[in-house]
Amino acid sequence: MSNEFDIIVIGAGIAGASVAAHLAETRSVALLEMEERPGYHTTGRSASMYEPNYGPPSMLALTRAARQHFDEGGFLTPRETMFVMPDGQEDDFEKLMAKQKGISEISVSDATRRFPLLREGYAKRAILDSGTADIDVDLLHNSYLRLFRQRGGELHCSSPVTAIEKNGQWKLRAGDLSLSARIIVDAAGAWGDAVAALAGKKPVGLQPKRRSVAIVPAPDCDNFMSLPMVGDIGETWYCKPQSGKFFVSPADATPVDPHDAYADDMTLAEGIDRFQNAVNYEVTRVERTWGGLRSFAPDGSPVVGYDKADDGFFWLIGQGGYGIQSSPALSRLAAALVRHEKPPSDIMDEGLILADISPDRFG
Ligand SMILES: Cc1cc2nc3c(=O)[nH]c(=O)nc-3n(C[C@H](O)[C@H](O)[C@H](O)COP(=O)(O)OP(=O)(O)OC[C@H]3O[C@@H](n4cnc5c(N)ncnc54)[C@H](O)[C@@H]3O)c2cc1C
Repeated sequence: MSNEFDIIVIGAGIAGASVAAHLAETRSVALLEMEERPGYHTTGRSASMYEPNYGPPSMLALTRAARQHFDEGGFLTPRETMFVMPDGQEDDFEKLMAKQKGISEISVSDATRRFPLLREGYAKRAILDSGTADIDVDLLHNSYLRLFRQRGGELHCSSPVTAIEKNGQWKLRAGDLSLSARIIVDAAGAWGDAVAALAGKKPVGLQPKRRSVAIVPAPDCDNFMSLPMVGDIGETWYCKPQSGKFFVSPADATPVDPHDAYADDMTLAEGIDRFQNAVNYEVTRVERTWGGLRSFAPDGSPVVGYDKADDGFFWLIGQGGYGIQSSPALSRLAAALVRHEKPPSDIMDEGLILADISPDRFG
C-alpha cells in the first residue's frame, strides 16, 4: 500500500465517491471514510428523488446537467411529485408558482385521481411536477465506488481524518494511516467545516439541518408503488412509496451540529399527525425511523472550488437537499476544476455561474 498520492478525498458519501472516481482516471487517489462503510451518513438516508425543479439556481443547472448520466445508467424510475395546498398556505402556493419552473396547477379532482389517499376537503389547490423520478442511490453510489477501484483508487474505511498538516505536501492522520498528497478534497458532508478547520482553513459557515423520516406500513391501495410523492406546499410533511412501504417525513430542517443523526420523536409524531390529517389512511405503527443531515452554506448553494488562499485545498460541500440528484454533474465539474481544466461545456450551458458556488464568495 502506498502512502503518497496525488489527491486525497475525505468522505466517501456520494460527493466524495463520485469525484474520486473521475479523478482516479488520471491521478493517484485515496478516498478516506471514517465509518466502516461508505454512504453511512446522509447519502444513505435520503428520499432518493430526482427533482429538476427543486433547489437554488446552481443546483437546478447541475441537476439538469446530470440527467443524461442518470438516463444512460438506468438510475431513474419515473415518479411524479404533487404539492397540495390546505387552508392557510395560500401565500406559499403563489410563491411556489412564481418561483418554480416546470410545474403546473392541476385540479383537486385530478390530484385525487393521482393520489386516491388524499382526504376529501384537505386540498384546496394542487400542483404537479411530472418530470421527477426515484433515484436508485445504492446503484449510483456503488457504480462510482466500483469505477474508482477499477481505476486504481484506494478506499480506506474506518479511517477518520483527525490531523491535517501542510509542509510542502499535505500530511494526514486517518486512523492507523499516515498519508500524504499535494491536494486534498473536502467532501466530508456535515463535517465539511470541521475538516476545513483541521487543515487550518476558515469555515464557510456550513449548517447541518436534521430531517427525520418514518417508515410506516403501506395502505391497502391499488398500484401503491406508482403513487406520486406528495407533500403540502408549506413543507410541513411529505410522503412517498419506498420499497413497498410509506416513507413519511415532517420535512423538518432543525439546525444541529454534525453528528450521527437520529429522528426527533416529537417532531416525527407531529409530522405524522399532519400527514394523517391529509390522507384517509391511519398509521397504526411506525416500523423504522432515521434522521439525516442536509448541510447548507449560508446562501444555500454548494461550495465548490479551491480555497482562495491555498491551491491544495479543494472544497466540495454544502449540497443541502440536492446532493444525489446533482452528483453526476457536480462530480464532473469538481474533477475538472481540481485538474485546472475548463468546466464541462454541457454543465455551463445549463446556466451554472461558477461565482455562485465558489468558496471565494465567503471572503
Ligand atoms: C431525509 C433526507 C432526504 C433527502 N432527499 C434527497 C433527495 O431526494 N434527492 C437528493 O438529491 N438529495 C437528497 N438529500 C440530500 C442528499 O442526501 C445529500 O445532499 C448528499 O447525500 C450529501 O452527500 P455527501 O457525500 O456530501 O455527504 P455524506 O453522505 O454525509 O458523506 C460525507 C462523508 O464524509 C465522512 N466524513 C466526515 N468527516 C470525516 C473525517 N474526518 N474523516 C473521514 N471521513 C469523514 C462521513 O462519514 C460521510 O460518510 C436528502 C437528505 C436527507 C437527510
